[in-house]
Amino acid sequence: MNPLYFDNNATTRVAPEVLEAMLPYFTEYYGNPSSMHTFGGTVGRQINDARTKLADLLGASPEEIVFTSCGSESDNTAIMAALRSNPEKKHIITSRVEHPAVKNLCEYLAKTGYRVTFVPVDHKGRLDMEYLIRHLTDDTAIASFMWANNETGVIFPIDDLAGILSERGIIFHTDAVQAVGKVPIDVKKTRIDMLSLSGHKLHAPKGIGALYVRKGTKFSPFLIGGHQEKGRRGGTENVASIIGLGRASDFVAAHMTEENTRIKSLRDKLETQLVQKIPNALVNGDTDNRLPNTSSIAFEFVEGESILLMMNEFGICASSGSACTSGSLEPSHVLRAMGVPFTAAHGTIRFSLSIYNTEPEIDLIVEKLPPIIARLRTMSPFWKDTCGHTA
Ligand code: PLP
Repeated sequence: MNPLYFDNNATTRVAPEVLEAMLPYFTEYYGNPSSMHTFGGTVGRQINDARTKLADLLGASPEEIVFTSCGSESDNTAIMAALRSNPEKKHIITSRVEHPAVKNLCEYLAKTGYRVTFVPVDHKGRLDMEYLIRHLTDDTAIASFMWANNETGVIFPIDDLAGILSERGIIFHTDAVQAVGKVPIDVKKTRIDMLSLSGHKLHAPKGIGALYVRKGTKFSPFLIGGHQEKGRRGGTENVASIIGLGRASDFVAAHMTEENTRIKSLRDKLETQLVQKIPNALVNGDTDNRLPNTSSIAFEFVEGESILLMMNEFGICASSGSACTSGSLEPSHVLRAMGVPFTAAHGTIRFSLSIYNTEPEIDLIVEKLPPIIARLRTMSPFWKDTCGHTA
């Protein structure tokens, strides 16, 4: 059975044109880009070509791009670089809804002598800007706020944040892993110091990421080793994947308009029809300001995991909460931070689309899901008790 793949915030399909661009770097051009010979040097030039393509996607200069192994490494590198470059400063500010790559690192740092402020969000997942401003101090070494939330798609006010932070001379890192390729980004217009991204969220393979580091930003490497990436990240380059990320940058740039029109309208159709057909279905997050591909819907009084299992029988792939938290029955920290009630958080499903999704797939989900929820609710004593409904 071909999957009906609606889990693109977890990972995306490698685009065929991306794979095609990568293949020669396994078979033909296998030289080490650091080698003195022409065979390796050719590969080095192709890496720089990929760097330019990625830089163009962000409005950056090629020298401002550091290739890493994933979004998590980029996040860790950015935060640790800011702390190491400003050893006298001991305060970090971030939000309560960050991905574990930022959240768990900050919690770890809080145990090792740093003071961390986790800025709250409201019931729609919007950042409390007044709280944030009140908690900035001369001791703040770094502010790390995600561009777009992986679970709800809610977009933070990055321009406003950049303005506030640069005025105070605070290093601003944004985890843009979910935003790159889905919404336009131009680091020339917005004063971001560091920006993380990950290849597998934009139709490149898993195991490749990048960090944008604005020219002039004090930096120290996270992975200490050879002179690769101008000494900013040791380790022989993941050549084929870097080539893939370069090709994927062109690919998502070419599809950006489609992302914001066709995919958005498919997402809206899915969401509207599910909410119409299923009682007690609520959309999580700020629907006026979110990624065009993401829909987080709470089906009250059922278990998200049970919904996933039953959808799986029809080949429908989605997530409950974020992929990184599934496997644990704790409601996601994002929905908890938004104050989503327990009975809704537990029944939340995230659908995340890509350019490969089609209208017939939407129609199939809209046909299959309402009876699944109805069936699960007949087994839920809580549903009967709370709502007085029975099968
Ligand atoms: N940041 C966000 C917002 C994410 O959604 C993810 C992955 O889901 C990451 C960071 C981590 O990226 P990676 O899987 O490449 O380490």
